[in-house]
Amino acid sequence: MSCVFCDIANGRAPAAVEYEDDRVVAFNDINPAAPVHILIVPKKHIPTIADVSEEDEPLIGHLIRIARKLASERRLEGYKLIFNSGEKGGQIIFHLHLHLLGGWDRKPSTVSI
Ligand code: AMP
Ligand code: ZN
Repeated sequence: MSCVFCDIANGRAPAAVEYEDDRVVAFNDINPAAPVHILIVPKKHIPTIADVSEEDEPLIGHLIRIARKLASERRLEGYKLIFNSGEKGGQIIFHLHLHLLGGWDRKPSTVSI
């Protein structure tokens, strides 16, 4: 089964990569919903939050730590971290990813992703 985020994680598809280590890759969203919109993606293919096992929990903590590091490097004073989960939760790509959104001048009224 082909998966665009597995392809990006394996270097088989292009992306504007902002951070990478042995467990995650972070890249700019192709259709940004905020001045800063970065996706933090585990290299392991996990479809949704509902598929996260107990052994994956440190990996979820790592995603949040990397989001925090990227936000701090960009001097974001506030930001949103979002996991869309399932079709009815607005998820389009079924490879787990954490959205980091920020860079607004003031509190955003709504963000739709
Ligand atoms: P979600 O609705 O949570 O599944 O979000 C998927 C996100 O992936 C959307 O914000 C898309 O704009 C973004 N996206 C889809 N394909 C790519 C790609 N090839 N490179 C970067 N971002 C992508
Ligand atoms: Zn995948």
